[in-house]
Amino acid sequence: MKILIADDDNVSRLLLHRLLNRWGFDSVEVADGEKALEIMRADDAPELVLLDWEMPKADGPEVCRQLRLMDKAVPPYIIFVTAKDTLFDLVLGLDMGASDFIRKPYKQEELRARIQVGIRTIALQTQLVEARNRMEHLAMYDMLTEVYNRRAIMDLFGRELSRCAREQHTLLVAMADLDYFKKLNDQFGHATGDAALSLFGEILRNNTRKSDLVGRWGGEEFILVAQVKDADDLSLFERIRLQTENSVLKFEDKSVRLSVSIGITATTGGETLEKVLHRADNALYEAKESGRNRIVFNERQP
Ligand SMILES: [Mg+2]
Repeated sequence: MKILIADDDNVSRLLLHRLLNRWGFDSVEVADGEKALEIMRADDAPELVLLDWEMPKADGPEVCRQLRLMDKAVPPYIIFVTAKDTLFDLVLGLDMGASDFIRKPYKQEELRARIQVGIRTIALQTQLVEARNRMEHLAMYDMLTEVYNRRAIMDLFGRELSRCAREQHTLLVAMADLDYFKKLNDQFGHATGDAALSLFGEILRNNTRKSDLVGRWGGEEFILVAQVKDADDLSLFERIRLQTENSVLKFEDKSVRLSVSIGITATTGGETLEKVLHRADNALYEAKESGRNRIVFNERQP
């Protein structure tokens, strides 16, 4: 655990540094409020702050106020360590967002105990944030394929569609459907079907950029939304088709070959999501009808 010491008094700072060190903590020391804020803006900023009140550039209450405005998943635990000792100061310090307040001169054991309370609080908050992130992940992703679920892809695609109209760029939108999936399920069982979906999810994730949207539309059908400079560049989809064709699903003593059909359309926004998907779906239908394991791009935005 790294702790920030912000105090303009050299002796106080050194004493705190030595104590923290003895108790097994790393510390960073600064002598004014501006430096304290600068350290706290970093990604790997300390999670706990021992804060003096009277300091140059920005005083303790101001540092506190600004720290509370920073957007941090786990807010820092701030302990005032100050010679200020009136009830008014205590209340003001806590109102400015401090977590705790300890008067100088302090008893070392009390300081240590209060730091421990801070550490427990930070641990709890970290657990809460992790739990919330897990919940968000579960709510947005398809468990089997690790791509967005239907609701999330609808939502994100909708937003991307309005954004591309505003910013005037082109989106390629693809519907991809694993070939002969029903046959695979019937012949080899649902576990194999699931393995095929999971493998295809991996191929999609490995071949797309962070800015692309990939989601499971339902069953063995997937949606891909890619922002492109050149609307005729279908290499992303060709790569996905080829990798799918070349991948082999091992199952007991058998091995199963997969393939995918992909229907693609382009849009520059200004139309409904349903319209775009309808065109992509028509292209997919054509890909299936003309023999599968291919990509078809024939429907441009009218
Ligand atoms: Mg001071």
